Amino acid sequence: MNYPHTIQTLIECFKKFPGIGEKNAERLSLHTLQMDEEVLNIFSKCLADIKIKTKRCKNCNHLTEEDYCEICKDSTRDHSIICVVEDPKNIITLEKIGKYNGVYFVLNGLISPLDGITPEDISLDKLIDRIKNEEIKEVIIAVKPSIEGETTTLYISRVLSGMNVKVTKIAHGVPMGAEMEYVDLMTLETALDNRILVS
Ligand SMILES: [Zn+2]
Repeated sequence: MNYPHTIQTLIECFKKFPGIGEKNAERLSLHTLQMDEEVLNIFSKCLADIKIKTKRCKNCNHLTEEDYCEICKDSTRDHSIICVVEDPKNIITLEKIGKYNGVYFVLNGLISPLDGITPEDISLDKLIDRIKNEEIKEVIIAVKPSIEGETTTLYISRVLSGMNVKVTKIAHGVPMGAEMEYVDLMTLETALDNRILVS
């Protein structure tokens, strides 16, 4: 026998999350019965709103609920330095260090011929437009140290060569294949300080 419909549906929903199997989904669903109604209302409202309210910043592709993200709107930041990352969560990691005061650009993935992701797919157009139209001094490429990361770095540096902008990459002391969010903040801070000139 299954649980009543709502609980059973909630279990099926939790199972959609990565790493959540039947047992955990059951535990989480039953736990909601013990939670404050106020918290559950916030939770359900967030779930209902997240896809509607969350957009990509028109300038840098970071997640935002406005047309432009907080970082792009911040006039105290150095808009002449752009740090290129793979994912919005990399911005959150770099912001936790709190040392970087430039702005960002989020790529639409990394070039990966094996997965069918070509240079056209990572949407560099917006970045190129910014370099053409703004006074950009440096582009720092901060993607994970992998074949895809290196391929993407090389491609970006080629595209930007001759555009009068310095291209650097962060000095990874981290193993190949490491995910950016698992690299501890100290390592990432050092990597950012010791960046290497690409072109
Ligand atoms: Zn932005």
